[in-house]
Amino acid sequence: MNRTLAIIKPDAVERNISGKIIDRIESAGFSIAAMKKILLSRPEAEGFYYVHQERPFFADLCAYMSRSAVIVLVLEKENAIPDWRRLMGATNPDSAESGTIRNEFGLSLEENSVHGSDSPESANYEIPYFFSRIELVQ
Ligand code: ATP
Ligand code: MG
Repeated sequence: MNRTLAIIKPDAVERNISGKIIDRIESAGFSIAAMKKILLSRPEAEGFYYVHQERPFFADLCAYMSRSAVIVLVLEKENAIPDWRRLMGATNPDSAESGTIRNEFGLSLEENSVHGSDSPESANYEIPYFFSRIELVQ
């Protein structure tokens, strides 16, 4: 079993489709080890996406991620990290495969509805960014 960090991003929470996305997550066999709705401050969004700080889209990305609430989740499953990335689909919804969450719900390259850790190293940074050990249910 392993864990990954998922975020239902502002565009999806704003459109009231978080339940549909959580249904897709549970139907794919993930169990939810932790979940909460939060409003990120701009510095909190910048800290979360610090690996992208030199990218041209960094400022817009952090403004978007802090403009309204997100739902952060820890998902648990065998191969959780690659399996959640596969269910999300490609970063750009226009090139995401049919059947993926970004293909179905994403609005644009930036407003692509969901986030997922891309490696064990990033999951090890991202999960404790939002959750303490006592908040993670086995
Ligand atoms: P995430 O990290 O959110 O799961 P990802 O790993 O598929 O997405 P990254 O390259 O890590 O993609 O980019 C982080 C986020 O930054 C993307 O999900 C998207 O919201 C935004 N983004 C990425 N590239 C661009 C771009 N060229 N223009 C605008 N926004 C972008
Ligand atoms: Mg990424």
